[in-house]
Amino acid sequence: MSMADVFVFAGPPGSGKGTQAKLLAPKLKVPHISLGDLLREAVRSRSKVGEIAKNYLDAGKLVPDNVAIDVAEEAVSRKECKNGFVIDGFPRTLEQAVLFDILLGKLKSNLKKVLYIDIPLEEILKRLTGRRSCRKCGAVYHLTYNPPKKDGICDVCGGELYQRHDDTDEVIKVRYEVYKKQTSPLIDYYTKAGNLVYINGAKDVSEVFKEVSKAVAS
Ligand SMILES: [Zn+2]
Repeated sequence: MSMADVFVFAGPPGSGKGTQAKLLAPKLKVPHISLGDLLREAVRSRSKVGEIAKNYLDAGKLVPDNVAIDVAEEAVSRKECKNGFVIDGFPRTLEQAVLFDILLGKLKSNLKKVLYIDIPLEEILKRLTGRRSCRKCGAVYHLTYNPPKKDGICDVCGGELYQRHDDTDEVIKVRYEVYKKQTSPLIDYYTKAGNLVYINGAKDVSEVFKEVSKAVAS
C-alpha cells in the first residue's frame, strides 16, 4: 500500500460492508470512517446536521448530498486520515462521488478501490429483522445467529433489547430499493474509472473478508 490509499466499501444496508470495513482498517493500520455511525452520532447529539439527518434516516431515505458531503469531509480531513483510510456508507450518489474525487485530490489521497458487497434482498431481510440492540449499552444480538442468554435481556448489562426502527421489514425494503436506484450511476462511474470490485456478501463474515483481502492486495 502506498502513502495515502483510500478504500471505499459500498453495498446495500445490511450487506455487512461496515463489518468488513471495520476488519480491514486495522489490517491496513488506517482509520475506519462510517458515515452511518457519524450520522447516528449527530442525531444523538442533536446537532444541526443531526436534526436534518433524523427525518431522512427515520423514513429510510438517504440524507441529502450536502449533508453527507459535509459530514464526510469533516471526518476524512482530520490528520489521522492523512496516510489513508477506509470508509463505508459514502459516497452513495454520483454527485457525492464526483465531489469526493475533488476532495481526495485536495488531500493528496488516492482512491484505490471501491469494494461493492453484493447481496440479495432476501438474505438481508433474514439478517436484519432478527437483529436486536441493547437500549443501555448498544450491544447487538441476533435472534438466530447470536441470541442473548435470556429473551429480551442484554447479556452484558441486563438492559432491555429492542428492534431498531430501521431494522423492520418495511423499512429495510424501502432502504434497499432506494439504495439500488440511487447507486446505479455511482456503480457505473466507478466501473468506468476501473475502481470497482464486486464481493459476494452472501457468505460468512470471515469468508467475505478473505475475498476483500485478496481484492485489496491485488
Ligand atoms: Zn446492554
